Amino acid sequence: MHILVTGGAGYIGSHTCILLLEAGYEVIVFDNFSNASKESIKRVEKIAGKPITVIEGDIRHREDLDKIFDAYKIDAVIHFAGLKAVGESVEEPLNYYDNNIHGTIVLCEAMAAHGCRSIVFSSSATVYGEPHTTPIKEDFPLSATNPYGRSKLFIEEMLRDLYISDPAWKIVLLRYFNPVGAHISGTIGEDPHGIPNNLMPFIAQTAVGKRAFLSVFGDDYDTHDGTGVRDYIHVMDLADGHVKALEKIESFNEVMTINLGTGKGYSVLDMVKAFEKASGKHVPYKIAPRRAGDIAKCFADPSYAKKILGWEATRSIKEMCEDSWRWQSNNPNGYAEEIVGVAEKDPRVNHS
Ligand code: NAD
Ligand code: UDP
Repeated sequence: MHILVTGGAGYIGSHTCILLLEAGYEVIVFDNFSNASKESIKRVEKIAGKPITVIEGDIRHREDLDKIFDAYKIDAVIHFAGLKAVGESVEEPLNYYDNNIHGTIVLCEAMAAHGCRSIVFSSSATVYGEPHTTPIKEDFPLSATNPYGRSKLFIEEMLRDLYISDPAWKIVLLRYFNPVGAHISGTIGEDPHGIPNNLMPFIAQTAVGKRAFLSVFGDDYDTHDGTGVRDYIHVMDLADGHVKALEKIESFNEVMTINLGTGKGYSVLDMVKAFEKASGKHVPYKIAPRRAGDIAKCFADPSYAKKILGWEATRSIKEMCEDSWRWQSNNPNGYAEEIVGVAEKDPRVNHS
């Protein structure tokens, strides 16, 4: 079976490609490399010992997509491609709507024109906005507080409308909680450009000496230690969720919306401690003001994924930190060659 993986060179896509190859699928990666390196695919091929067809192109360009659908009989699409930085989405809303929403429209049009109607879409726990309680179930009310989140919400709605218009579509919306960690080989992992927005890569870069300290955004939340609580999920568990979704997709007779999380919540300081233990490195931190738009607590009820997909996360926080550290310490500059100096200040925080 041929699986088209849009955004397959990126963080979650590259890890998913390994499991797809291991499961015997033919993998075609389609990526514009706006936030990825070709090196990630080379390393995936080495890990899996199998080749990947890589096509450089943009999901907004119908002719790029048509070439693939003309050349291969694509059985299903896993759609990772998109922009994902919340802050950037506030500054560049049209870019986010164009890339994520317009891109998905063009992709679905190309799929329909070529008789491919099976899609697994990367949604996010961000669509729950500020949940009224935790753990979060799939039927909780939805809302978004920024253009990135809204783009995910709109795409979910759009895909539901598409199914109503033509029930031949097979659609799975996977709502990820907080993906972290790396492949156990330490050869692929998350490689954010510039200053990481997310906690785990920031901790890892601090431990390796690229950042002077971590800013902990707020210590006065209503949580066990005052810092924000999230459901961190190992990227290989997440990748496995996609393979399970693909295995079942043909049997679904409705749009399936599924949380992929562990069901456990860890605070920022819990993560710092776990990382220090896993790496043997000190992670200096300073308490900083709350980050705008952050919520106190967010963790999944993952029971529906277990029921529907037979999937559950198996990797612990210890493994998440150990695997992140192996990737970060073996590749202090990610996939790039250049050496980056230590930043003494966190430019995301007002130091005045
Ligand atoms: P990533 O940036 O590492 O991967 C996205 C990939 O898509 C990159 O390789 C990028 O080059 C490619 N891409 C972007 N726009 C494209 C376009 N127009 N045409 C072709 N390729 C394009 O991000 P990731 O962390 O692997 O996330 C994958 C998906 O999961 C995204 O849709 C993201 O919104 C979603 N998601 C991520 C997280 C997270 O914390 N990482 C959480 C929830 C949801
Ligand atoms: N966080 C932090 N310092 C950072 C980055 C994140 O204290 O440099 C906190 C953030 O406030 C939240 C948690 O870590 O409580 C997870 O943030 P992340 O950006 O990784 O994910 P999201 O906000 O999308 O859940």
